[in-house]
Amino acid sequence: MKRTLLVIAVFSFCIFLVSFSPKNKNSTTPPKATVKTLIIDPGHGGIDPGAKGLFSTEAEVSLSVALKFGKALENEFPDLKIVYTRTEDIMAGNKRTKDEGLRYRADLANTSGGDLFIAIHCNSAGRRPGGWYEKVVTGKTPYKKTVGKGKKKKTVTAYRYSYANVWKENVAHGTETYIWAVNKNDDKVNSVNRNEDNYGELETDSTTTLTLPDPSDPAEKARMLIYAQQYFRKSLNLADMIEKEFVETGRVSRGVKQRNHTGIWVLQATGMPSVLVEIGFISNKEEEEYINSDKGQNEIVDDLVNAFRSYKQKLESKTVNASR
Ligand SMILES: [Zn+2]
Repeated sequence: MKRTLLVIAVFSFCIFLVSFSPKNKNSTTPPKATVKTLIIDPGHGGIDPGAKGLFSTEAEVSLSVALKFGKALENEFPDLKIVYTRTEDIMAGNKRTKDEGLRYRADLANTSGGDLFIAIHCNSAGRRPGGWYEKVVTGKTPYKKTVGKGKKKKTVTAYRYSYANVWKENVAHGTETYIWAVNKNDDKVNSVNRNEDNYGELETDSTTTLTLPDPSDPAEKARMLIYAQQYFRKSLNLADMIEKEFVETGRVSRGVKQRNHTGIWVLQATGMPSVLVEIGFISNKEEEEYINSDKGQNEIVDDLVNAFRSYKQKLESKTVNASR
């Protein structure tokens, strides 16, 4: 008896499913893809100043550029809903640790129903901002000296070295846009610059203890797959557009890069296309001045707005089904 009831229940459920899904797909045209809600994430903040320059911090510069970016978008796209992960110099969500802040960022993006996530950061070459003095050998003068005692006494040639402190400029500069590395065997992924060899030269968010998502965890695997299928190409498109805009403004583009790193864990954790833009090296004297200046910030904002516009237009020119 119980079994019969169960069979009836399963059967009814199947009819329920059949009567709903295909009919709806065929009778209504799929909604146009667009960006209704944009998450803007100024990196770091509060307890976490991020990379330090000679006179500014990554948290300050990222916030300033992020707010200007949002303001510019508001003017051009009044219907766009913009959600900031922070609007002042605090850790996102006023959290006490960087990891809690990262989780808050991802949760906020997801619960706000974001269609796109753009994080703004500044890069750092890891050495002292501006530059540093390095002791280098400038000369080598030979002289004779006596060694040993008694019969073993002999004269040998020794050298006196002269040194100088030479100024080494912190030269790394330019822009980079990151996307999350999904599947290394994917053709598209292989066309993107690999970055893992120069970890030392990159911004280090290594103080985080947040563990990378474990790809053997089924839930994580499912999420990565969804990201790979639906969001990866869109993220890559936008990243390309952003770097192209930077180049047109005369910036040096270090390219679109992908990385499996906790610092951009937030990209993978958000259920939407997402990019992380490194707007310039705060560790480079000239570039620090540029990314702090009105001229520099306005140019960066224009580049980001142009890329956003192109991305949105491209999405809207296609239907959801054809958008891959
Ligand atoms: Zn950063």
